[in-house]
Amino acid sequence: MIGHQLKNYSKMKYKRILLKLSGEALMGDNSYGIDSKRLQEYATEIKNVHDLGVEIAIVIGGGNIFRGVQAGKVGIDRVQGDYMGMLATLINAMALQSSLEQNGMYTRLMSGIKVESVCEPFIRRRAIRHLEKGRIVIFGAGIGNPYFTTDSTASLRAIEIEAEVVLKGTRVDGVYTADPEKDKNATRYANITFQEVYEKNLNVMDMTAFTLCQENNLPIIVFDMNKTDNLLHLIQGNEVGTLITSN
Ligand code: UDP
Repeated sequence: MIGHQLKNYSKMKYKRILLKLSGEALMGDNSYGIDSKRLQEYATEIKNVHDLGVEIAIVIGGGNIFRGVQAGKVGIDRVQGDYMGMLATLINAMALQSSLEQNGMYTRLMSGIKVESVCEPFIRRRAIRHLEKGRIVIFGAGIGNPYFTTDSTASLRAIEIEAEVVLKGTRVDGVYTADPEKDKNATRYANITFQEVYEKNLNVMDMTAFTLCQENNLPIIVFDMNKTDNLLHLIQGNEVGTLITSN
């Protein structure tokens, strides 16, 4: 039903993925908010993968609108700021939902905090059912608790829905020996273990998010979401970005 096709099943390495997009990426070349061109590019990338029959869940950040850590600077307490950050992720999630639907995909938005007029609350079994029916599920409002990030949301929800991998789409094409924007000699890892990331103190995700993946043996791929067809190539099993695994 609803346009979900499994006919290209053999072409894909992963059947169920959790895609993490940062809020900042949605800004495109702007310094705030949502760029319509970038939104459309993401919808196209996601559709190409969805057309293969991949079950897709998405967590999107809110950094283009508000981050809880900014709150103190403007006299707002941290917890209040974190809830504002969660609402920011919901705004991005609604924009993405709209864009995906305009591109012919069926979607469901599930929120970590109750916003009944806008979307469903997160219910694990229901999320899985949506995925099985070919709907793209977007998790908005993080996990619904302050002091967490959308990276942690991505790890937790991926484990809950039994996704095979967390795909962290960033503007950098993987994990490097040092920050490639500061160190010209930095080189990219094609594969690395969770343990090595710890030992080398590399920055992949915040510790809560990272540890959740490690403890649950859930691979992470860090890749450049802004490069056309990267997501598709990755799903087809090509080496894109950096794969982080237990061994
Ligand atoms: N946030 C939170 N709990 C969550 C997820 C997010 O409190 O479970 C808040 C937190 O303040 C965070 C903000 O929402 O700074 C936006 O998310 P994040 O910074 O992870 O977005 P990204 O950096 O990916 O754009």
